Parts: sequence; structure tokens; C-alpha cells
Amino acid sequence: MLISIDDYIKAGRIAAEVREHMRKRYHVGRTLLEICEEAESMIRARGGEPAFPCNVSLNEVAAHYTAEPDDSIEVRDGDILKIDIGVHVNGSIADTAVTVCYNPSYSMLVEAAEHALREAVRVARVGTKASDIGRVIEHTIRSYGLKPIQNLSGHSIASYTIHAGKSIPNIWTIGSFALQQGEVYAIEPFVTTGDGSGVVYNGDVSNIYSLVTKKRTGDKDADEFINMLWDRFRTLPFALRWLRDKDLRHARDMLAFLLKKKIVRAYPVLVEGNERYVAQAEHTMIPTNEGTLVITA
Ligand code: MN
Ligand code: MN
Repeated sequence: MLISIDDYIKAGRIAAEVREHMRKRYHVGRTLLEICEEAESMIRARGGEPAFPCNVSLNEVAAHYTAEPDDSIEVRDGDILKIDIGVHVNGSIADTAVTVCYNPSYSMLVEAAEHALREAVRVARVGTKASDIGRVIEHTIRSYGLKPIQNLSGHSIASYTIHAGKSIPNIWTIGSFALQQGEVYAIEPFVTTGDGSGVVYNGDVSNIYSLVTKKRTGDKDADEFINMLWDRFRTLPFALRWLRDKDLRHARDMLAFLLKKKIVRAYPVLVEGNERYVAQAEHTMIPTNEGTLVITA
């Protein structure tokens, strides 16, 4: 597979800069909306585009929350917050995440996630089995007396496609593929407490969407809306916030209609099974024969 290495390097550099800015900032008292908008405007200011709405998932929510257009939820002292950032340059995607922690009881979760990611990167190269990466991640996390989330995983990345079909597990699993030359992968350990279930389920909220198909509906308004989504996002995920220049009530109605027709899909928030807190760390990398090029380092 031919990939544009320069675009990946640029996307990775931008994603890393935004992530490090977010790691250093003190977020208590800020709204999730401010955080998302800051991340996304930093991406655009550096010449990238968000590959998906900035994810800001608090505490027992492991992933897939993004701010609503009028979101007033604030980060409070005692929270842990996963900030997951996606950048694309001409469709070449970098995916990276950091957990900021305002609760000393959970700092070990963050440490374990970062440590597991470092160990995974250390073993990743052309030919490494995804199952061996999962084993290293699980072993590292369990050495802290903590649990990996077993139904969340890293993934292969392709042009304009965040999840390109291959999964890199966070636990040891039987049978898997080997990392290939010229492919791009995200590795993302998720960690919960020893008394967590280690499994996430779909929560009630869904506020990230993507276009599944450009199939016509026969309804003129809906077909125009589909064209607009394709022009702006192709099949990449988007948020209602990104349609602010449109009539939001109309956009909401259109999304509800297209969801029913399965032309648009929604991604529910993912919640820890025992509602225990979750930490995440993530890098995007391109394996080589010698090791791995971490584009979000
Ligand atoms: Mn991510
Ligand atoms: Mn990812």
C-alpha cells in the first residue's frame, strides 16, 4: 500500500503538539466545549483538519463523548478526563490521546496506560503479532493490579478511514495478524481499576456521527444535506457543533431522519461496565523493520 509519509508526519506533529498543550493545561473549571474548540482550532491553525470531533470523556466514560453545541459540563476537581485528538492532512490521519487527572487516587491508572503504551511501542515492528502487543499491554496493566478494557482496541488506519479493519487488542488473544510494512496503526491501552469490569457498554448519549453512504433518499432537503456532509467530512466522524453555520434545529431533524434510514450512523459513548474510572493513552505509528516510527511522539 502506498502512503503519503509526509502527510502522516505532518498530521502526527500537529496531533502531538495539541496533545502536549492539553496535557500541560489546567482544565478544572473549563467546559468540555471550550476544550474541544481549543483543540480543534489549534489543529486548523497548524494546517490540519480534525479527523474526528475532539473526544472529551470524563471518569467512567471511556470514549466517544464530544461537546454539544451549547455544552455546559465543566471539569471538576476529582475528575479524570481523556482527551482524544484526531488530525488529518489530505486524509492521512494521526490519532492520539492523553488522560489528565485531578484525582490522586487515579493517577496510577494514567501511569499504567502510559507505561503499557511505551511497552507496546517497544515491541512493535514489521512482523510483530497484534496478539503479542495485546499480551504486553495486558501484562503491564495487570502488574499495577489494574485491568485493561478488553473490548476496546487499537486499529489500522487508512486514507480518510480511522478504523481500517484490523484490531490491536489490549489483552492477549488467540490468532491475529502481524504488523505490515507501509501500514499505519493506532495503539491505545485503556485501563480501569481492579474492581472494574474491564468491559465497556454503549451509554445513552450519542453525539458523534458519520455518513455511511451517499444513497439518495428521494427527499430533496435530505439529499442536499447528505451532499453537504460528504463535501465537508466524507465518511469521517463529525459533531453537531461543526454544523453551527447551518440552522441547528434543521440539522438535528435531518440527522434524526438519516439515522433512521441508516444513511448516518451515531457512535454511543462507551461506559465502563461497573462504572469505574478509565484512563487511556494513544499513539499512531508506522512500523519499520528496525522498530516503529511513532508519528505522534
Ligand atoms: Mn483516539
Ligand atoms: Mn484510536
